[in-house]
Amino acid sequence: MVLTSKTSASCPPALGSVNVSRVAETLVVNEIYLSLQGESTFAGLPCVFVRLTGCNLRCSYCDTAYAFTEGKRRSLDEIRAEVHRLAEPFSRPDRAHFPPVVNAGDASAQHKLPLVELTGGEPLLQPNAARLMRTLADDCFTVLVETSGAHDISKLDPRVRRIMDLKCPSSGEVERNRWANISQLRATDEVKFVIGTREDYEWAKATILEHRLDPVCPILFSWVAPLSESQRDKALKPVPKGLHPISRKDLVEAMVADRVPARFQLQMHKFIWPSDERGV
Ligand code: SF4
Repeated sequence: MVLTSKTSASCPPALGSVNVSRVAETLVVNEIYLSLQGESTFAGLPCVFVRLTGCNLRCSYCDTAYAFTEGKRRSLDEIRAEVHRLAEPFSRPDRAHFPPVVNAGDASAQHKLPLVELTGGEPLLQPNAARLMRTLADDCFTVLVETSGAHDISKLDPRVRRIMDLKCPSSGEVERNRWANISQLRATDEVKFVIGTREDYEWAKATILEHRLDPVCPILFSWVAPLSESQRDKALKPVPKGLHPISRKDLVEAMVADRVPARFQLQMHKFIWPSDERGV
């Protein structure tokens, strides 16, 4: 298989034309799989996930602690070929009952299916992640990246849709927010607040107002799903003392009462598969 870099004008590339050209360029990968996008304005759509290893945060609610250290070094060409392999059934002529594109997100653009998302861990910790995203965008994929918001997002290809957390107090990592990222946000990005306590909710509302986020891009309020026993990693930060848990019902009712300009979301995949199942 030969991976050649294609421009967006010439995509999508034929899978058979993919070639390995720069094996020296690698990423440490935890897993690559095809599933359903469980969050964001793209929730519900098929998506290939590339989960990269490593994170320098330890959020209290992290459900992917297994990606802190587990992983294997793979060349960018190998990763790209695996994404193409998983995506290939979507473009097979014999299965072309539907066009392989869909309106989603901003609804003004059509997106090739499946989507591709880089996640983690923290994908931006590995410099080659930016190169992989650019290459996948050249292949005409709609590329999403999930980032903690603790790293510079400004260097990514403008076609990449950045889903950026702003860490709330109960994460234990609120001090790590990189506020300079806010001036870099565009309409195609999304800002996510993961909310587990009343204090998180108040903090998120105040942050939206202070930084005038709502005219910039979609805002997501994601309720913290409790971790299963197997997901509780000893390295995670404790929820700071004195915070008051909020139920998803109370969160939704507060959002409606306060007319918060944000989209409530649950992690859809956790309602379909067991909450601690990997590769879904
Ligand atoms: S930033 Fe994400 S991967 Fe890292 S600890 Fe927090 S929730 Fe987990």
